[in-house]
Amino acid sequence: MIEIAVNNLAAATGARTVTGEADQVCRGCVIDSRQVEEGTIFVAFPGENVDGNDFASRAVQSGAGAVVMTREPEAELVSLAQDKGCAILLTDDPEEFLLRLAHTYRLELGCLVVGITGSIGKTTTKDVLAAVLAKRYRVWATKGNFNNLIGMPLTVLSAPADTEVLVLEMGMNHFHEIERLSQSANPNLAIVSKIGTSHIGILGSRENIARAKAEIVQGMCAAGDFLPLLVLGGEDDFTPFIRDTFAQPAGIDVMLAGVSDDDEVRARDVRVDDEGRPVFTLDFGQGETIDTMLAIPGVQSVPNAVKAAAVAYRLGVTPEQIDAAFRGLTITGHRQEIKRAKSGARVIDDSYNASAESMAAGLDLLCSLSCTGSRMAILGEMGEMGDEAPRMHELVGAYAAAKKLDMLACVGGELAQLMADAARMMGMDEDRIQVFSDYQQVLDRMGGALEKHDVALVKGSRFVELDRFVEGVC
Ligand code: ATP
Ligand code: MG
Repeated sequence: MIEIAVNNLAAATGARTVTGEADQVCRGCVIDSRQVEEGTIFVAFPGENVDGNDFASRAVQSGAGAVVMTREPEAELVSLAQDKGCAILLTDDPEEFLLRLAHTYRLELGCLVVGITGSIGKTTTKDVLAAVLAKRYRVWATKGNFNNLIGMPLTVLSAPADTEVLVLEMGMNHFHEIERLSQSANPNLAIVSKIGTSHIGILGSRENIARAKAEIVQGMCAAGDFLPLLVLGGEDDFTPFIRDTFAQPAGIDVMLAGVSDDDEVRARDVRVDDEGRPVFTLDFGQGETIDTMLAIPGVQSVPNAVKAAAVAYRLGVTPEQIDAAFRGLTITGHRQEIKRAKSGARVIDDSYNASAESMAAGLDLLCSLSCTGSRMAILGEMGEMGDEAPRMHELVGAYAAAKKLDMLACVGGELAQLMADAARMMGMDEDRIQVFSDYQQVLDRMGGALEKHDVALVKGSRFVELDRFVEGVC
């Protein structure tokens, strides 16, 4: 984790020192005062509900090395800090403070950095890449989904000093966020996992989503004679746009990796085993090929895994090591985890989030599993789609109808109703479709209906809380 003297902390971030010894060394950085240890930097965020500044004295009491505030500290706090040997710094913008501090530490680490963005598949790609690279390197990677303007710098700041490769997930809701993340982390390699429709409500169009993701090139840099390299998927219709408009003008090499014939590193002959796990042949484009499989279910993970393999291969991980890592994969929770209900039914817990593409992928997985009972989908509303929301929900409803499910449960308000209506319009039997207002209602009405040989997909945006349905039945 970062170790930095108070004067350097101020110089790196532009924060003003209110009190503190210039040469006192701080270690690590947190934004939750409960995580403060001896010497930690505590950064206060003035949140909507909770104001981190109110916890500054608690951080000082807990032994913080520095507290970074957004409002002038009261005299009492200043004297407490002086007694305890804690510095107090002031900043207008704690996010920018973290990004700058992370940048300083990233330069000091001097390790390779891989940035991962995209509308969908970032966490999957990140988890696969971290597992594959760990076969050869000391890797530090984003935990869970800690991918925003706060989570990413905190990930960097917590990296051990001997990290060889830093793998960072970079998420965004708005323009310029990926630019700021990239300029903080300076990735040497980057992956754009896929340009889909998440956040289309905010950004307006898929082209704008592509532009926002392409901002990743802005902070990319070379490492020695290792060129900056951007990995894109030949299967993605926005790949030529990103390559020609953003990467090449910035002098960044592009490698295609995925599941299309154009890809240099590519998966072919993709099929699934009885548990829905993809089995395929992976070509590395240098005449090297392996037959491999992913230990996580769902063919939609294949393009993500191939991009991770392409980066790892470029960094010298062997095909055999990649194969071994693929076969031992585990993935961050609530993403296509196949669980057992108390009744013995299989439940695909994909309750972490949802977009139209990932709903379709979830339904594909549901239908690829062997099943002698009923096949059911419990689909929650999808958030952050703006004007596109009705159309996206109708598309998913229609897709579900085409899958000939035994039961479709739509969970939420008007959009859930639209999903159900679209399924009905597309010919799904009325009595196989149900609409529920929330997870509790599904649990009460359907929880007991899952029988031993059934398989159910549970998927929706986070706010629908379908993970609580899964907890209730498993
Ligand atoms: P977030 O924006 O929440 O961070 P993410 O980009 O990290 O999302 P993941 O968490 O990896 O995405 O995946 C989200 C969902 O999308 C999962 O259900 C996953 O299986 C599915 N998914 C991943 N990649 C693809 C893909 N290429 N096509 C369709 N679905 C995909
Ligand atoms: Mg994610």
